[in-house]
Amino acid sequence: MSKNTWRFGTQVIHGAQTPEQWKSATQVPIFQTASHRFDTAEELAEVFAGKKPGFIYQRLRNPTNQTLEKRLCLLEGGLDAVVTSSGMAAITDAVLAICRTGDEIVSGNSLFMSTFLLYNNVFKKFGIEVKLVETSDLNAWKAAVTPKTKLLFVETIGNPKMDVPDIRKLADLAHANHAPLIVDNTLATPYLFRPFEYGADIVVHSTTKYLNGHGSAVGGVVVDAGRFDWPDDKYPDFKIYKERKGPLAYIDKVWREIHINFGTSQAPMHSYLTLIGLDTLALRMERHQSNAIKVAEFLQKHPTVKWVNFPGLPQSPAYATAKAQFEGKGYGALLTFGLASEKACFEFIRNVKLIYHLANLGDCKTLVIHPWSSQYVSFAETARHANGITPDLVRISVGIEAIEDILEDFDQALRQAGE
Ligand SMILES: *Cc1c(COP(=O)(O)O)cnc(C)c1O
Repeated sequence: MSKNTWRFGTQVIHGAQTPEQWKSATQVPIFQTASHRFDTAEELAEVFAGKKPGFIYQRLRNPTNQTLEKRLCLLEGGLDAVVTSSGMAAITDAVLAICRTGDEIVSGNSLFMSTFLLYNNVFKKFGIEVKLVETSDLNAWKAAVTPKTKLLFVETIGNPKMDVPDIRKLADLAHANHAPLIVDNTLATPYLFRPFEYGADIVVHSTTKYLNGHGSAVGGVVVDAGRFDWPDDKYPDFKIYKERKGPLAYIDKVWREIHINFGTSQAPMHSYLTLIGLDTLALRMERHQSNAIKVAEFLQKHPTVKWVNFPGLPQSPAYATAKAQFEGKGYGALLTFGLASEKACFEFIRNVKLIYHLANLGDCKTLVIHPWSSQYVSFAETARHANGITPDLVRISVGIEAIEDILEDFDQALRQAGE
């Protein structure tokens, strides 16, 4: 048994761990320092020139961050990675390294709220047009792609629509049009799904969610498979990066051009907390999956609940794709359900005792939110409906507590909401 053949459940703990480098410490030290000292000007010159590896300044690189980069890269099966200050920073870094004014992006419309706002409002200001298409409708994707399309973007599991796109088909479409596919794999994590094995080129995550698992640090990551060839006629900016770095061209461009100049670096303390969370990822995800199915089945039978949307229920339109793509490991742990009215949703939330009411997901604790009146309140009603948000919808991030306690809390709060 060697490091290279360790299985996922081992790599989450031991992958890219180099205790010999850290005076045999079993936890990665937190390098809480803005800068690193050099004895000679010659040495610093060599590091700046990229002739020698080394750490200069935290916004550029940091040893604690680098350990997390290597671990996440290994778990996704990528070539290299950059960790960022948040999931949104990862998306910004990943996209801006590719696009400039006049370019187009085609993206599934089932998007995390801030990604939707970034694409619809912010990138537009800089002349980057994002065409949002119905995530599960391959023909809509085909119709939206033009020679100006510089990348395709999709989330593994749409939130809160709970749709699951066919990644292999989207990767094929992207490649037929000489564009890379970026997958936001936050909701699945590499435990459930490894997008590179299905043809994706770049993976982004909010590490704030399942990867950290304890709601203790905000962060993100961009991982590159190193396979996309960035043809010169379409991506002329990449030429010098390809000459310098070969298959590492993209991640070098992300880092050198965007990451260090936008200042999207991760705080080393956050990398440390995320690494501790990662130790238990495989175990937590296993429990998240089994608990989520039990919660979905329970809610479906509950007299107060009008409907349940979860990819793991056979009547879900996402069921077949989720089952095949996640290879039987589960269906994620996010679900939505409907009550009689907005008022009933508020009553339910008022009465939960174990379940936390807050804006986050992927925590080991079970979480609830009413998106219509919270995260999406600034959206026009039509935009809320387009995002799959209705006034009667409650979103649950199923945690890893004892299932009996979760179900009992649901039952008592639902009974009060149903009165
Ligand atoms: C939370 C989330 C993000 C944004 O991540 P932050 O760490 O909050 O910046 C992006 N994509 C998805 C799918 C998310 O759930």
